[in-house]
Amino acid sequence: MPKFGNASKQRLATCHPDLQAVCNELIKYMDFSILCGHRGQTEQNTAFREGTSNLSFPKSAHNSFPSHAVDLVPYPVDWSNLARFHQLHGAFVVVAAQLKERGQIKSEFNWGGEWKNFPDYPHYEIKEK
Ligand SMILES: [Zn+2]
Repeated sequence: MPKFGNASKQRLATCHPDLQAVCNELIKYMDFSILCGHRGQTEQNTAFREGTSNLSFPKSAHNSFPSHAVDLVPYPVDWSNLARFHQLHGAFVVVAAQLKERGQIKSEFNWGGEWKNFPDYPHYEIKEK
């Protein structure tokens, strides 16, 4: 069974409990790393400048604390293999639905891979009501 490394664990600890619950269940089925949880002002503006985020601080869901967004990448990392990002998303949806049905989480989630003008395949965020 796959397990998170220390860097992934530390990043996940900065995330909303519902994101933590889904990731801690999802890791039992698929190996992936947590690239990013919470991003402070400096990190967010660096990401914006470098084009890995299309938002400046504090507009990203990563900027709240705990973070309402998490970035996940299938392990081992291969950015050119989008099929694996889709596969991870499929598993994420199933796990999230199960946890919600059991009353263990309250949130629903958006996947950045479905954004038309700025597809962000690693990105998952809580749907704000
Ligand atoms: Zn993100």
